[in-house]
Amino acid sequence: MDGFGILKGMGVTLKRFIDTYLDDLRWFGKRYYTKEGVARRMSTETRGIFTIQYPEEKLPVPEEFRFIPFLLYEEGENGEIKERCTSCGICAKVCPPQCIWIVRTTDPNTGRPVPEPKEFYIDVDICMNCGFCAEYCPFDAIKMDHDYELSVYDRHAKNIYDKDKLMKPVSYYASIRPANYAREEAARAEAEAAKAARRAQAG
Ligand code: SF4
Ligand code: SF4
Repeated sequence: MDGFGILKGMGVTLKRFIDTYLDDLRWFGKRYYTKEGVARRMSTETRGIFTIQYPEEKLPVPEEFRFIPFLLYEEGENGEIKERCTSCGICAKVCPPQCIWIVRTTDPNTGRPVPEPKEFYIDVDICMNCGFCAEYCPFDAIKMDHDYELSVYDRHAKNIYDKDKLMKPVSYYASIRPANYAREEAARAEAEAAKAARRAQAG
């Protein structure tokens, strides 16, 4: 029928328009001025108008959201730190814009390489947040962060992140990416069990 498509399109537009205000109507204006309303607008449950008063209010990011990479370290029971990075250099090789620099540690007595980075830098102005470094790291030592508030007044001095700035505990990783963390830990436990079984068979 002539004009049916136009009517259908207008119907969709009208539905979207009404949907925009449904949450506002449900909350009778309290969506903006009460603690619960603000929490609702900042949650993944929110519907309708998404405008928030940034930076006082922030929308949650999904688990797979990725920004600048960070390095992971394990926290020992006595507060000691164990870096996961072995300084293998794979992340630096696969990084498309080549914004990772690593200097490997060497044993001062033998001059032989030690599997941990002495220095580790990422130029966050060049990083394009692709996540390749995290994908390819064989040791789960580098992961993508959720922190997107990186504005600084002096990018030359502040946007080349060194090891101190890049290192974060595994517990932080588990808090921002719980599903990924659980999956990796399960795979690690499975691999350890298989290794132990092979050892028992051989010995
Ligand atoms: S972060 Fe991973 S891939 Fe990069 S050097 Fe360290 S262990 Fe290798
Ligand atoms: S996220 Fe991509 S661009 Fe950024 S450091 Fe990792 S590999 Fe390089």
